[in-house]
Amino acid sequence: MSTMSEDNNADRFIKESSILDEYSINWTQKLGAGISGPVRVCVKKSTQERLALKILIDRPKARNEVRLHMMCASHPNIVRILEVYANSVQFPHESSPRARLLIVMEMMEGGELFHRISQHRHFTEKMASQVTKQIAQALEHCHSLNIAHRDLKPENLLFKDNSLDAPVKLCDFGFAKIDQGDLMTPQFTPYYVAPQVLEAQRRHQKEKSGIIPTSPTPYTYNKSCDLWSLGVIIYVMLCGYPPFYSKHHSRTIPKDMRKKIMTGSFDFPEDEWSQISEMAKDIVRKLLKVKPEERLTIEGVLAHPWLNCTEALDNVLPSAQMMMDKAVVAGIQQAHAEQLASMRIQDHNVSLKPLSSVNNPILRKRKLLGTKPNDGFFINDPENGAEDSNVALEKLRDVIAQCILPQAGENEDEKLNEVMYEAWRFNRDCKLLRDGLQGLSWDGRAFSDKVDRLKLAEIVKQAIEEKTNLEDSQ
Ligand code: ADP
Repeated sequence: MSTMSEDNNADRFIKESSILDEYSINWTQKLGAGISGPVRVCVKKSTQERLALKILIDRPKARNEVRLHMMCASHPNIVRILEVYANSVQFPHESSPRARLLIVMEMMEGGELFHRISQHRHFTEKMASQVTKQIAQALEHCHSLNIAHRDLKPENLLFKDNSLDAPVKLCDFGFAKIDQGDLMTPQFTPYYVAPQVLEAQRRHQKEKSGIIPTSPTPYTYNKSCDLWSLGVIIYVMLCGYPPFYSKHHSRTIPKDMRKKIMTGSFDFPEDEWSQISEMAKDIVRKLLKVKPEERLTIEGVLAHPWLNCTEALDNVLPSAQMMMDKAVVAGIQQAHAEQLASMRIQDHNVSLKPLSSVNNPILRKRKLLGTKPNDGFFINDPENGAEDSNVALEKLRDVIAQCILPQAGENEDEKLNEVMYEAWRFNRDCKLLRDGLQGLSWDGRAFSDKVDRLKLAEIVKQAIEEKTNLEDSQ
């Protein structure tokens, strides 16, 4: 559990002076695109050192990312943060400046894990084991601080430079959380999703719709998700394709893939795996255990013979060749990005504007008259309406969850009607929602035709964003 002093330390570290006093920013070069916008290059004026710059809208979620990243960043396998600025920044397309956090990090010139592997002529099992060891050491550091990263994937594993012995480092603490055993937020990335995350989501849905009673000890997921992800990454590094593979292209986890994940059914096809050591297969098996309590801990990973053996393991892996096909890599990464974008809404602990700062005349009038909005207008004002607004937002989020979760049962359409009706009751005032639903055969009680669920999710997402004034950062 973090302490107040850690929180304050992180905030104290954040500089209010202009970043331009000490750095020049290259606005044209982009190092990589994440869900929060591109990471850019900046140069420290006094030393001419090239550094990476991540820019986030300054809100509690971003401060939390900075805080957790800073707590972990002293480790040699975690990307270092040099400075963080809180500045007001206006991008060309914006009409006014916005409060932003500018995170100056060490530059990882060697790029992302899969890209790097694809450049190797002879990527061997030994190299895969050495990379794994470094990732495991980074995770051990996070876990020892009781922090779960929760977004462990190849795009977040970067090489320091292009030399042969360049270290690999973990970045992006955007989904990291202090692990108190109650990481209930549904959140996943296809291929890298741990079964207990899916189970938590399934239960969450069922409890919401009243099918099963809320259990006194809620189903949770935690650091063991990171170990599951590590197992998947090892598997892909060794053979070049993911263990749970679905032939269907879908923006959500398809049914067959979900089933494979839930039952832990994967195998080691002979073509690629015959040359790979038993030790490697053993660590993968022990990490891809369905039950978190049976999975290796991070200490178990670091003690595993595959990471510590003296054998040559100089067999060349098929993965480098596979990863040269950019379309294959891009396909997997695209699916991740889309999934994360959808899940972001659910994961977002939406912070709402105080009533006093909202520029809406009707609301101002309501505030003046002291009336409580009863039709779901979303203002997080401690004195006024906060609970209603949170309920109304919850109802909208339920619709998104229902839309994007794989459809497991038979009465999925009915369930969608139920959650939509609930959301509608609390959000009728939203014009965006009304207009969007009109095009989707919503009659105020149910959908009369088959619904395009992704379209509906998109409409509801926009309604949430409008209501909460969420805006994507640059
Ligand atoms: P987001 O949280 O928006 O997903 P990330 O922190 O994951 O952003 O960064 C997005 C991408 O930017 C990474 O996948 C990587 O390619 C690139 N990147 C991030 N940090 C660095 C860095 N320190 N050096 C070089 N490239 C980086």
